[in-house]
Amino acid sequence: MARDADVLVVGAGIAGLVAAYRLMQAGKTVLVLEARERVGGRLLRHQIAPNCWIDLGGQWLGPTQDRAYALTQQLGLRLFPTYTDGESILYFGGQLRRYRGTVPKLGLITLLEYGTAIARLDRMAQQVPLDAPWRAPNAHQWDSMTFASWIEQTVRTRIGRWGLKLFAEAVFAAEPAEFSLLHALFYIHSGGGVERLTGTRGGAQQERFVEGAQSLALRLAEQLGEQVQLAQPVRQIRQREDVVHATTQQGVTYTGRAAIVAVPPTLAGRIEYDPPLPAARDQLTQRLPHGAVIKCFAIYDRPFWREQGLSGFVTSDLEPLHVVFDNSPPDASCGILLGFIEGAAARQMSGVSPEGRRDAVLNCLVRYFGERAAKPDAYLDHDWNAEVWSRGCYGAHFPPGAWTQLGHALRQPIGRIHWAGTETATRWMGYIDGAIESGERAAQEVLEQL
Ligand SMILES: Cc1cc2nc3c(=O)[nH]c(=O)nc-3n(C[C@H](O)[C@H](O)[C@H](O)COP(=O)(O)OP(=O)(O)OC[C@H]3O[C@@H](n4cnc5c(N)ncnc54)[C@H](O)[C@@H]3O)c2cc1C
Repeated sequence: MARDADVLVVGAGIAGLVAAYRLMQAGKTVLVLEARERVGGRLLRHQIAPNCWIDLGGQWLGPTQDRAYALTQQLGLRLFPTYTDGESILYFGGQLRRYRGTVPKLGLITLLEYGTAIARLDRMAQQVPLDAPWRAPNAHQWDSMTFASWIEQTVRTRIGRWGLKLFAEAVFAAEPAEFSLLHALFYIHSGGGVERLTGTRGGAQQERFVEGAQSLALRLAEQLGEQVQLAQPVRQIRQREDVVHATTQQGVTYTGRAAIVAVPPTLAGRIEYDPPLPAARDQLTQRLPHGAVIKCFAIYDRPFWREQGLSGFVTSDLEPLHVVFDNSPPDASCGILLGFIEGAAARQMSGVSPEGRRDAVLNCLVRYFGERAAKPDAYLDHDWNAEVWSRGCYGAHFPPGAWTQLGHALRQPIGRIHWAGTETATRWMGYIDGAIESGERAAQEVLEQL
């Protein structure tokens, strides 16, 4: 088994694999060291029937995620549209409302207030430079308050405030009080606006992979062959003159001329560096916690809600399931409801028994879709908070002060160590597309250095 290569890549998520693949194409030798016994990181598919996969991790692509579409096409993978026909459900304060299109029927004042708040967020987001959010004109003011404080100042109605809380949970898997207004604005700009981030048709939830999104990583790993080494958690990285040594938990040392650390900052901070990293980088990795999410699937013989004229899409304030999608396969050979437990609810439900979680989820689905939802053929969920090599999801968020004081250390290479991973992206940070951008950028940096 090879122990030397031009470049060592830590992490076989989509970012690390893209970086390694680009370097291989440029004629460099690479070794990808992955902690888990599989590739894909936050992309994980699960087969439920012949030719039928569900995604326990990331799953959707949408317009302007050009890098992800290009890679999908290059690898010959197929996509299909998320099901959106029929009416959606808004469940709020114990009352169920059905509606068509994207906007629920709420009072004029509420709609006006909510619409104005979203338009303001979009306008302010435009002022945040994607490569240096700390240079936004109001960066210090926006980074000294949480998104929750801004909501409180700006929105008066109960339902309007709840709508923005739901936005935070659905997009960041975190509560509005956990991240700064500047981070919210950067992220909105990075993803092309609130509607693009939250929308299905025309938005980030538009399409899914027929064989699961992890197939992106599996195909890249196939091409890299033995250059990908599984079950190799890197515990230490040493830099000596013009070489880098990475030592795994098992005590195996790999050597390269450069390294790309393609893991989320909170995991990069758990690696020991010799010599130690500059203080700013270390302080940064202490400050970027992950959101919390549990993805829940109820599988039925058919998508029965479609017969009731429903799209399967729900937004709700009922605990613990605030967002539901129709996640059935393209041929609707079975019906799948996908529910998200996010933010505070996910942290609470992480500690509940599997049966307790199942009961709580099915109880919500019955309220939304009726008694027929009570008895799925199968139920499963995946708790990303319990994954030691992810430490929560969808990704990192920046609390107050982090962007303005330490943001400059996010991508800055340190000697021969380069940083990748979706958290280091400028466009579509937190998404598959951002991870690809980061892998391509890090590979380019290394090529220039070598
Ligand atoms: C539930 C969920 C839903 C999501 N939904 C979507 C979606 O619909 N659309 C979308 O675009 N994105 C979505 N995302 C986000 C998307 O999955 C991620 O942005 C993307 O997969 C991140 O890729 P990455 O390579 O940057 O990081 P990761 O996938 O986290 O890869 C990092 C890799 O490094 C490994 N590793 C960590 N530490 C070490 C170490 N010390 N040594 C060796 N290896 C190490 C990890 O095991 C992992 O394989 C979702 C994520 C989750 C969890």
